[in-house]
Amino acid sequence: MTAKIINGVAVSAAMRTEIRQRVDVLKQRGVTPGLAVIMVGANPASAVYVRNKIRACAEVGIQSFRYDFPADASPQQVLDLIAELNARADTHGILVQLPLPPQFSISEVLQTISADKDVDGFHLYNVGGLVVGDTVFPPCTPYGVVKLLEHEGIEIEGKNVVVVGASNIVGKPMALMLMQRDATVCICHAKTRDLAQFTILADILVVAAGHPNLILPQMVKTGAVVIDVGINRLPNGKLVGDADFEGLLPKVSYITPVPGGVGPMTVTMLLANTVASAERAAGIAPKH
Ligand code: NAP
Repeated sequence: MTAKIINGVAVSAAMRTEIRQRVDVLKQRGVTPGLAVIMVGANPASAVYVRNKIRACAEVGIQSFRYDFPADASPQQVLDLIAELNARADTHGILVQLPLPPQFSISEVLQTISADKDVDGFHLYNVGGLVVGDTVFPPCTPYGVVKLLEHEGIEIEGKNVVVVGASNIVGKPMALMLMQRDATVCICHAKTRDLAQFTILADILVVAAGHPNLILPQMVKTGAVVIDVGINRLPNGKLVGDADFEGLLPKVSYITPVPGGVGPMTVTMLLANTVASAERAAGIAPKH
């Protein structure tokens, strides 16, 4: 068996074409979707992410508003801006780039964003929506994984899914979204004893731990689907995921590469959430 390599760049490009068409429909109704991006400090990785998000907005016709604060900004300044953006009709999505400097309470910042404009899906209202299967904004990375699985026609219902990683932004929402689609889900984390005894049972294995070579071929069932969310920079500068990609290729049925797998989908789903928000504001039922 040789795995099919899931091309996240191609799926993402096709989705962006569709998103652009939805933006055009909104513009014909006099609505331009708008995304506010707030960055505090000058974390170089965050600066790259913010630039990419703003470029992607321009690519599909979404208007972006960038707000930069110095690293020593007072939390109140940022909270006041969020309150103002919550009320603005031209802003359909508000995103605060994480991490934030230590004087900030991330939770306070995220809860200040109106749940109706929380395009990252981190507000407790949206997290609660995930639990009951009624989400307004699904968090972008796991949403992108679901879209990749759907695009490849990979059945989720009734499948054994193992999610390695239990963070609030990837692992936990991923598990909830796949459970909602009737998979049998197991979540593993750093304190899981003998990871392989769980991963070997997976029909679909989603890895989001941030450790290169965490998933080796002997830990995976023949024919499994492996979705690698991890992004790790090796000392030689190479970017890799959490799974042994080359080792797994002959054994699994599908695998996502790093880079070029889940990564491009994350920003695309941010665009999709922003357009969905503008559609709701314009009285159009958003397409999920
Ligand atoms: P995180 O907040 O550091 O969470 C990592 C999770 O993995 C934690 O739940 C941790 O367990 C678990 N873990 C760590 N080591 C493990 C091990 N040896 N065995 C099993 N579980 C282990 O990271 P994150 O934000 O979720 O991101 C995870 C990875 O995905 C990173 O490489 C990140 O760069 C990447 N990422 C990619 C995208 C994308 O767009 N492709 C988006 C977001 C993140 P504990 O809970 O027990 O500590």
